Amino acid sequence: MQDINPEHIRVDPYLSPLFDEKGITADILRLDLLHPVVSGNKWFKLRYYIEQAQEQNKKSLVTFGGAWSNHIHATAAAGKMAGLKTIGIIRGEAPAGLSTTLLQAVEMGMQLYFISREEYRQKKLPDQFDLSDAQLIPEGGYSLTGARGAATIIGLINPDDYTHICCAVGSGTMMAGLMNAFHGKGLVTGISALKNNHSLETAVGELLEQPHPAPVIIHDYHFGGFAKHKRPLLEFMNALYHQTRIPTDIVYTGKLCFAVNDLAGKNYFPPGSKILLIHSGGLQGNRSLPNGSLIF
Ligand SMILES: *Cc1c(COP(=O)(O)O)cnc(C)c1O
Repeated sequence: MQDINPEHIRVDPYLSPLFDEKGITADILRLDLLHPVVSGNKWFKLRYYIEQAQEQNKKSLVTFGGAWSNHIHATAAAGKMAGLKTIGIIRGEAPAGLSTTLLQAVEMGMQLYFISREEYRQKKLPDQFDLSDAQLIPEGGYSLTGARGAATIIGLINPDDYTHICCAVGSGTMMAGLMNAFHGKGLVTGISALKNNHSLETAVGELLEQPHPAPVIIHDYHFGGFAKHKRPLLEFMNALYHQTRIPTDIVYTGKLCFAVNDLAGKNYFPPGSKILLIHSGGLQGNRSLPNGSLIF
């Protein structure tokens, strides 16, 4: 498998007549270019777990997720590259046919265990599990270790170049890391991928390392809920690709870009704002769409 290479990440200008009209500029940090399979922010959240596992001679990574989880997929790939076994604890009974995400995780060597939704809620591990040589990673990498890894995303840019950073929010780990690293430089705005998850502000707040104003999370761009999408979102993603050649995903980054455009139209960003959007990857999730939905 190809190596993970942060040097593939670059900043692309995101040009649009609307941004010109509003007197603002936007760039997109292309974490999706990190690797064809391990996309985006997931590797940043995993990086210190993998280092820790290697330092402590752990043999495997154990983590949790659903059938379409980018985190499961990325853990399988990153573990394989690091020479660690990977074990995925998957929410729900084993289906007759695995999702593309899980099939690929298995191809990369991940062992899957399906547990009932109830057991999953309690993060109950199957009884036969011996964790002595395993590195446990919380669902979505949500932890201080995950946030510290995500904070290193800021090392890829010059923070003085921006007044605003906008990112998608799932567990809030990445947003917390970005806030920790961009502290005092400008405003981090999170766009929630979930419907009405108003515990996210607290979730992000708990991973902040210094006193901070409350996290700013916008809840108006979920398009029906997590992994739900509507025709206008697909149309927007196709138009964005047509205009910029940047592919986005239906769960996170499509909604993020849609939101930044919509917010710009509503004068959320004062004139002179220099916005950085974090393209956190996740493109593998688009495989859940019927063929032909997207032009990329
Ligand atoms: C997981 C994920 C996110 C959300 O990151 P959190 O740290 O869980 O908030 C955003 N974008 C993509 C592409 C992801 O896969």
